[in-house]
Amino acid sequence: MSSVDGMRGDCGAKGDELVKPLRGRVSESSVPKRRVYGCCGSISIIDYKDVPLYLAGNPYITSGYRPKLSPLECIKSMFCWTNESINIWTHVFGVIWLLTVLLMDLSLLRELAPAPSDVIVAVLMMVSFMMCLALSVVFHVFNCVSEIVCYTTFKWDVVGVALATFTFYWTGIYLAFICYPFWRYFYWASAFTVFLVTVGLHHWDDFLTDKYRGWRMFLFVIWAIYGFVPLCHWYFLYGGFENEWVQAIVIRVIILYALVGMGFFFYLSRFPERLKPGWFNYVGSSHQLWHVFGVLSFYWWHCAGLQMFSYLRTYGCPADSPVDPLRHLANTTNSSLHPQ
Ligand SMILES: [Zn+2]
Repeated sequence: MSSVDGMRGDCGAKGDELVKPLRGRVSESSVPKRRVYGCCGSISIIDYKDVPLYLAGNPYITSGYRPKLSPLECIKSMFCWTNESINIWTHVFGVIWLLTVLLMDLSLLRELAPAPSDVIVAVLMMVSFMMCLALSVVFHVFNCVSEIVCYTTFKWDVVGVALATFTFYWTGIYLAFICYPFWRYFYWASAFTVFLVTVGLHHWDDFLTDKYRGWRMFLFVIWAIYGFVPLCHWYFLYGGFENEWVQAIVIRVIILYALVGMGFFFYLSRFPERLKPGWFNYVGSSHQLWHVFGVLSFYWWHCAGLQMFSYLRTYGCPADSPVDPLRHLANTTNSSLHPQ
C-alpha cells in the first residue's frame, strides 16, 4: 500500500519543493553505487542525494535506494536488502496470510450455513484486500524502472487503497443492514459514489501534485467521518448499548479506525525517521509501519465481519425490521442456530 496522501513518500514529487534543495542533480554514470546483500547479481544501492527525482520522496530515508533498473532487475532486487525490502515483503506475506485466512473462512462458513451471497461477499472482501496489497507490491517492486512506471504504478496503488477503504464500507453495510434492504442500498450507493470520485480524482495528474495535497486529505477525512453515519444508524436500529452484540461490534469498529488511523499517522508524520534521519533506512520506517497497520486492519475487519455474521445466523433480524426475522435462517440445517 502506498499512500492516499499523494506523491511524497512514494514516487518522489512532481513540484515537491521540499525535496529538491536536499538533493544533488548528478548524471547516472557518476552516481556512486554500493553492492548489497542478497541474490542480487550486479544490482547495487545508492544514497538519497543520488536517486532520480521521481524516487526522492522522503529525505529522512538517506540510503538503501535502488538505482534505475530494468523490470527484470527489479524482480531480482526483491531478494536484495534495500529500503524497499520490508515494504515489498510485508505485503507479499500479507497476501499469503489473507489467502490462508480466506480458505479457513470458507470451511468455517460452511458450518454457519451461509446463503450464496454471504460466501460471495466473504470472498470478494478478501480478494479486494489482497488486490490492494498486490498493487502495492507491484508499485514497490517496479517504481525504480522509470518516472512513467513509477507514477502509473503509484496511481494503481492508490486505487488499491481506495478499493480497500470502499471494501470496509460495503462489507460492513452488507451485514449491518441485511435486515433493512432500503438502507443497505442507500449506503452502498453513497459509498460507491465517494469511491468513484476518489479514484477519478486520483487519475487526474494535477490532483496528485502538492497543490492539491490539502484537498486529497480533505477527501479521505470526509470519507472516514462519513463512516460514522451508517454506524450510528445501525447502532439505534439494533437497540444501542443495551444490546451486548452492538457493544462488541462498536468496539471492533473503533479499533478498526484506530488501526487505520495509526497507519495514516505514521505515513503522514514520517515518524520515526524524521527524528533520526538515516537510522530507519531499512527497518522501522514510517512507510513500513503504514504497511503493517494496513495488513492488520484487513485481518481485523475480517474477524469483526465473521462475528457479525455469526450473530445474524444465531439471532436473525430484529422483530421490527422489514425482513422476516427467520429469513436468514431458512437454509440453516443446524437447528441449534435458531433462536429459542
Ligand atoms: Zn506502500
